[in-house]
Amino acid sequence: MGGGGREHALAWALKRDTPDATVFASPGNPGTAQLGTNLKIPVTASEDLVAAVREHDIDLTIVGPEAPLAAGLADRLRAAGRAVFGPSAAAAQLEASKAFAKDVMRRAGVATAASASFTALDPALAYIARHAEPLVVKASGLAAGKGVVICATRAVASRTARAMLVDGAFGAAGREVVIEEWLDGEELSVLALTDGTRTLMLPAVQDHKRLGEGDSGPNTGGMGAYCPVSIAAEGVLLERVSREVIVPTLAELARRGTAYSGVLYAGVMIGADGSPAVLEFNCRFGDPEAQALLPLLPGVTRHLAEIAAGEWRPPDDAVVPVRAAVATVLAASGYPDQPQLGAAIDVPRDLEAGVLVFHAGTGRDADGTLRVQGGRVLTVTGLGDDVAEAARRSADACQQIAFPGKTYRRDIGWRDIARARAGAARG
Ligand code: AMP
Repeated sequence: MGGGGREHALAWALKRDTPDATVFASPGNPGTAQLGTNLKIPVTASEDLVAAVREHDIDLTIVGPEAPLAAGLADRLRAAGRAVFGPSAAAAQLEASKAFAKDVMRRAGVATAASASFTALDPALAYIARHAEPLVVKASGLAAGKGVVICATRAVASRTARAMLVDGAFGAAGREVVIEEWLDGEELSVLALTDGTRTLMLPAVQDHKRLGEGDSGPNTGGMGAYCPVSIAAEGVLLERVSREVIVPTLAELARRGTAYSGVLYAGVMIGADGSPAVLEFNCRFGDPEAQALLPLLPGVTRHLAEIAAGEWRPPDDAVVPVRAAVATVLAASGYPDQPQLGAAIDVPRDLEAGVLVFHAGTGRDADGTLRVQGGRVLTVTGLGDDVAEAARRSADACQQIAFPGKTYRRDIGWRDIARARAGAARG
């Protein structure tokens, strides 16, 4: 369920792992239409979705985005006796309320930035006055990755808190704010599959949230991602995030009577001393992380199906990516603030082998013309033996795909490519 690049990648992975499966997507997009049937029911229409799952006798439902999970879509499907991959609304609060997530982490002893939550302006301003710059001000609710403001000064932090709490920027999502210390370091996305008690760590991914090259400009929903990430390749860091973050968080949720099943995504900052601190939790696969990760993990959807059915047999060995992947997002001009829609898209038929094109904000006219219909238009995943080769394949394909206003970063994976170059130079 969903209609973005992540959902196209999930549908693609289901077909790869189970070629004779019948795949439905809802609402889907022109990419999922190539793999199966688009039901076109929006993710907000939960009654209609439950009815469609019954009508088509669908064995496994995967809910892609966070909003329907937070609204209880997985609960409704489970109540109707259907196998569904994704947490309950109560457990999805881990993403839908940053204040809730902070409370869970505090109780579970999980390292995270020092913070406080506020619903009134005066105590928020008093907190800001007492704390060192820079400060990070976050809308507590769901804001599509855009409700986080890094504030260089207390004055900016105060203005931001006022905009959220008093002026209604971010609407209901900003009625509660979390104010926290700024953490320095390198970010990693660490995803674990879980049935609530047992876990399977997936290879770490690195996302690029800023619009501009070299990680500059405004935050977006994500401009690209790559995997594997060398600083997490040895397994030591993953093991540590598992032990210090994933396992205690799941235990605390279970203790509260809201056991979590699905994929738990921890956005972590790795400090200069190598220790992880949690920036946020997500209750679903990342977009575009999924478009980098899923192509590297043949067979992974078996785990999703078994977790959904309540009969998971987790493997003993760690999951190791078979190759490297770099996923580059092609966005519309004006993204993220005012994406220009309607441009015709040309995707050449003869793109190089080792390139996957996942649809997101695209639509098809009756005559077959593909058009820009959303801010993030396509994700172009290059596969290769290493990140540099995968990046080159992705970049070449991104250059060949044409539409007016095409906006993208040519440096996805730059940290690891620079590390590999420095390593080679050292000999
Ligand atoms: P979030 O949605 O909470 O992950 O925040 C979005 C982005 O803002 C993160 O991916 C980070 O790049 C940045 N960010 C959030 N919290 C902090 C923090 N405490 N220190 C530094 N950067 C942060």
